[in-house]
Amino acid sequence: MARYCAYDNEKIGMMVGSVTLADGSVLCNKHWDRLGFSGFTGAYSSLLNKHDVAKIIDEGLDGDRYVASLSGFDTTFEYDKQASIGNYIHVSPTTKQIQIGGAGLFKFKPQVQVGYKNIVSYHVVEDGDQIIAKSGVGRAIGGGLLFGPVGAIVGGVTGKKKSKKIVTDLHIDVVVSDRPKNSYTISIISTQTKPGLVLTNARTTAAQISAFIDNILALQEQESTDTVSVAQNETANEIRQFKSLLDDGIITEEEFNAKKKELLGL
Ligand SMILES: [Zn+2]
Repeated sequence: MARYCAYDNEKIGMMVGSVTLADGSVLCNKHWDRLGFSGFTGAYSSLLNKHDVAKIIDEGLDGDRYVASLSGFDTTFEYDKQASIGNYIHVSPTTKQIQIGGAGLFKFKPQVQVGYKNIVSYHVVEDGDQIIAKSGVGRAIGGGLLFGPVGAIVGGVTGKKKSKKIVTDLHIDVVVSDRPKNSYTISIISTQTKPGLVLTNARTTAAQISAFIDNILALQEQESTDTVSVAQNETANEIRQFKSLLDDGIITEEEFNAKKKELLGL
C-alpha cells in the first residue's frame, strides 16, 4: 500500500523508510530527519502527531526541546548522579522528581519528567512474564535514601528465572498519573540475549530500578500517613479546647456535642 508523508502529502518511495506517528500518520525519513533529534529517538514518534511535525519544521523549532515541552519536563532539570540509575532514571531528590529515560545506552534521553507523587506503580516484564511488580520491600529512610535492599530483589529475579532461555525483551512499565501517557516503558533488553553477564547485568539493573521505585512508593505512602496523623492531632486538640469551654461553663453540653460531631465529621 502506498504511503504518503504526513508533512507534505508526497508519496513515499518504495525504498524510503518512514516512521508512524502517534495519530497513525506516516512521516518519511527525510522529514523525520528534519526534526533534528539527536541520537536514537524512535520513542519520540509515539509522542508526535502530524501537527507537531509541521510546527517543528515550519517554525524551525528544536525537536528535542519541543518533545521536552510536550512531555512536561524542563531542560534545566538538575539530577543527583549518585541517586540516579544510569541512563534509565535521573533523580532530583530536592524537587522530588524523576526523569525516565528512553532507549539510548550512551546518552540520556528523557521521555518524561514526573513527580514522586505521580508515580503510581510499575511492573517488570521479561519476555511477556511479569517478574516483579510493586513488591513492597522498599523502605524509605529519612525521606532521602532511595536505594533499597537491592540484593533481596536480585535474588527474587534470578531465582525465578534459572532457565537457560534466551531473553529478547526485558522492560519496566512505569504507571504514572497526570502525564501525557499513562505509562512509560524503560527498555533494558530489546534484542536476543543469551544467559550470561549481559543478561545478569540487565536483571540487576531491573532490580535496582524496581527497588528505587519501591522506595519512592513507600516514601509517598509514609508522607500521606504522616499528613493524616497531623490532621487527626489537630482535630483532637480542637475538641480538647471545646471540652475546656464546656468545663468552664462557657458552652453547654449540647453545643459541645454538636461541635465534636462536626469536627469528627460524623
Ligand atoms: Zn516527507
